[in-house]
Amino acid sequence: MLHGVVNNSGDWAPSLHTIAGKVFDNNVQLLSKHYNFITLNEAINILQGEPCLKKNLAVLTFDDGYRNFQMCALPILKKYSLPASIYVVTDNTNRGKYFWYDELDYLLQHYKGKSYEIIIQGRSYPLLINTYKEFKKTYSAVRKKIKRDVKDDYKLSEHINRVIDDLKSQSGFEDTNDGKADSNISILDWQELKILNDEDLVEIGSHTVNHIRLAYVDSDSIYNELYESKREIERQLSLSCDVVCYPNGSFNDEVCQLSKKAGFIAGLTTVTGFNSVNDDLFRLKRIAFPVTDNKLRVMACATGLYYYRDKLKNLFKISNKRVNF
Ligand SMILES: [Zn+2]
Repeated sequence: MLHGVVNNSGDWAPSLHTIAGKVFDNNVQLLSKHYNFITLNEAINILQGEPCLKKNLAVLTFDDGYRNFQMCALPILKKYSLPASIYVVTDNTNRGKYFWYDELDYLLQHYKGKSYEIIIQGRSYPLLINTYKEFKKTYSAVRKKIKRDVKDDYKLSEHINRVIDDLKSQSGFEDTNDGKADSNISILDWQELKILNDEDLVEIGSHTVNHIRLAYVDSDSIYNELYESKREIERQLSLSCDVVCYPNGSFNDEVCQLSKKAGFIAGLTTVTGFNSVNDDLFRLKRIAFPVTDNKLRVMACATGLYYYRDKLKNLFKISNKRVNF
């Protein structure tokens, strides 16, 4: 599981979910020596019991549909002939709109003060923005706290839009949300997706209409987010959109049932782990792609060593500080 692949040369770097192009290149080169990368559609057929002689199968998935997939990731994937699938959020694609967490990240990193206080529903979320390291740490923590406190993402985006407007008026960045201003966080438009869809190595799936956490909204909203995104992708790209990737990994039994009802054949979660034949296709597990440039750590992550280490740690309640591998 990946999000953005970036070649940072500008005046800022997104603080969330990115991997440097060079590190991505090195890591896929290493992993391609040990794994057979296949498309998700091939994987689904195998998970349904289709015979397969290959071993050590792996699939690359990119959430959110960033433009940097085309700019940075695809040339590297082509170099090693590796397939991948990307999951697009149709309202953002239609409107050429940044994700709120990226736009907020951008605006805060360009804010002139040393701190900024986000206030939502009377609660204060202070951010330290003196240095990049300090900001990265507090932004990640604040984002998690806000999402914990406001679980309905329709309401959350209203609150955040007010914060974004305030930051824009204070910073003078009136046009940050034209969807194209920054190559780190801009998203693919339909024309670019059409070109990508013609690539043999690329599959395109749904990441809902509005990138909301599906487990926290009512049944009608869940179904609309799933069905309308599938329909829009199929209408725009003339393809069969078979797989949904649940935003923020938020899903439950109802989300799985409604995904099936909307016409999908599989759903991707953010539950860490591996998938086996006859597993539930609407609860497919994934592993975060290793962002480290340490080869041993890359393999420890890909082989599941870290996954099993964390399971053991939880089982025996061992603290992070006492296990260093
Ligand atoms: Zn996402």
